[in-house]
Amino acid sequence: MSRRRLADYGLNSERLLWPTSGPSAKGPGVFERELGTEELQDRLMLTTLEKAVAWSQGNSMWPDTFGLACCAIEMMSIVSSRYDIARFGAEVFRSSPRQADLLIVSGRVAHKMSAPLRQIYDQMLEPKWVIAMGACASSGGMFNNYTVLQGVDKIVAVDVHVPGCPPRPEALVEGIVRLQEKIKAGVPPAYDIRGVAS
Ligand code: SF4
Repeated sequence: MSRRRLADYGLNSERLLWPTSGPSAKGPGVFERELGTEELQDRLMLTTLEKAVAWSQGNSMWPDTFGLACCAIEMMSIVSSRYDIARFGAEVFRSSPRQADLLIVSGRVAHKMSAPLRQIYDQMLEPKWVIAMGACASSGGMFNNYTVLQGVDKIVAVDVHVPGCPPRPEALVEGIVRLQEKIKAGVPPAYDIRGVAS
C-alpha cells in the first residue's frame, strides 16, 4: 500500500511539507530535523468523526447480564483471567438493559421466555447488537419441539451467530471480535439492515 502523506489529505503546512515547498525546499532545517517531521507525518492519526465514534463503540461494548441455559456458563467465564474479555473492552456486564448495548443470547429460548427477552431488547438503547450464542439460540438446536423458539432471530435482529453446543469461551470471544470488526468497518446494526421480526 502506498504511503499517504499529509498533502493527500489537503493539509499544506510548509513546515510539514519541506521537501516540496517553502523556504526549506532544499531539505529539512534544524527545526524539522529536531521535530522529526518525516516520522511525525507517519505517526499522525487522520480520521473522520464517524470512524472515531465507530472505533469507540466497538471497543467499549457493555453486555447485558442475561443468561438462559448451559451456554451461559461458558459466557460467564469470558470475564475470568483465563479468557479476559477486558482485552477487548467488553467486560462490563450491566445489570440494567438501559446501560447495555450488547445482548448475548446464551442458551435455548423457551416460548415462555420470548416476551421477557424481547422486552429486555426493547429497553436497550440504540445502537445495540445481538449475539446468538450456540446452536439453541441460533436454531433451537436439539430442541426441535413446541416449547422452544427455533432461532432467536425470529424475535430480535441478530448480528453474529456463534456455532457450537456449547461454544467454547474462545468462540464467544471470537464472535465479539468479529462484531467489533463489523462495527469499526461501518456496518450498521442488524436491526437497521433487516429490521426486527415482529
Ligand atoms: S447450545 Fe448446547 S450448551 Fe448451549 S444451551 Fe443449547 S444445549 Fe445448552
